[in-house]
Amino acid sequence: MTNDGKNIKEYDVLIIGGGPAGLAAGLYAARGNVKTIILEKLIPGGQLNNTLEVENYPGMDHMTGPQIAQAMEEQTKRFGCEIILNCNITNVELKGHKKTIETDKGIFTGKVVIIATGSEYRKLNVPGEKEYGGRGVSYCAVCDGAFFKDKELVVIGGGDSAVEEGTFLTKFASKVTIVHRKEKFRAEKIIQDRAFRNSKIKVIWNTVIPEIVGNGNGVTAVRLKSVLTNQESDFQCNGVFIYIGLDPNTQLFKDKIKMDEGGKIITNEKMETDVPGVYAAGDVRETPLKQAVTAAADGSLAATMAIEYIESLEDIK
Ligand code: NAP
Repeated sequence: MTNDGKNIKEYDVLIIGGGPAGLAAGLYAARGNVKTIILEKLIPGGQLNNTLEVENYPGMDHMTGPQIAQAMEEQTKRFGCEIILNCNITNVELKGHKKTIETDKGIFTGKVVIIATGSEYRKLNVPGEKEYGGRGVSYCAVCDGAFFKDKELVVIGGGDSAVEEGTFLTKFASKVTIVHRKEKFRAEKIIQDRAFRNSKIKVIWNTVIPEIVGNGNGVTAVRLKSVLTNQESDFQCNGVFIYIGLDPNTQLFKDKIKMDEGGKIITNEKMETDVPGVYAAGDVRETPLKQAVTAAADGSLAATMAIEYIESLEDIK
């Protein structure tokens, strides 16, 4: 306890975020015998919790995202890593040999911080989106798909998320229309092929959505605007799922760490940021592939480098 009564807990490694990157970092750090804690905003697993069908995590065939997340959490804890859930971070001090993280669950200090805060679904920022959030507008098919049994849905986007989640939504919806601003998807071919084979899926190309239309209670339509002709029309639907990319969760680190113009943390190949003793792993950093498996690989590398850094601090003493 400090003089002002605040409870300060000391660790070697502080990991912010309990998705695949944070959990893997926790596993490697704990197995490296350094005192480690993961501070997670919600529940373990990050974006894995939004994916029921994970087909590309090697060796984890026929497991859902939440099942993989749970297995990762249990394994990480088994080697002695502590995890605090529902932990709201209010401030971080990253400079110097002693880093500090202030949270609603206490203050934590450490020699190293690994940032694994991931990313969240980008907003479309059009009229109706906020107003009908939770009343027809969603960013999570796994969470909300079942509310749309036998209804007509629109999915916006052309990446892996839009096409994969659009296909998933056909389990519930009578019809899913994917609206994409270009004339081809950027989603992986296997994901596209599955969608094109699905008779419940239709695609509207070269079209954006300038407004989500409702009746005060819920969504009734989306306004379509052709990027070729600028013509507008309303398209009736009961719900809209928005999958137009991800924004990194880096607000806490603004002006404290080097980022690109999109707010992603810049690291080198050792996951080092521009601040000594601070590492970043997973979707939060600038990386060409955002997958659970690459996030876990980032986390394990960050933790391994962090242990080397801690040993180098001990050599200085
Ligand atoms: P993404 O790959 O960044 O794709 C975003 C899509 O939304 C693009 O098609 C983009 O159009 C479109 N878009 C962006 N801003 C828009 C706007 N304002 N209005 C309309 N459309 C807009 O995002 P993601 O699909 O969420 O995937 C994110 C990362 O996770 C990717 O690296 C992806 O590979 C990975 N992921 C992988 C899997 C899997 O392996 N199964 C599943 C989900 C996600 P343009 O194409 O015109 O730019």
